[in-house]
Amino acid sequence: MPEPARLVRCPHCGQLAKATPENPWRPFCGRRCKLIDLGAWLDEDHRIPGPPGDPDNAPSDES
Ligand SMILES: [Zn+2]
Repeated sequence: MPEPARLVRCPHCGQLAKATPENPWRPFCGRRCKLIDLGAWLDEDHRIPGPPGDPDNAPSDES
């Protein structure tokens, strides 16, 4: 009698994913969700708050 698959909810999309060693992307449902989730926090980490441009370095119209 086969054991029931251990399932977890993918933290990214909420789909059921296998939480077994045969799923290398656990607890995500797949590679895409893992990469997207990883990319999301990396992106946030690299985002630097501040003004879009330095007014001192702005190109002048009078030249
Ligand atoms: Zn997913």
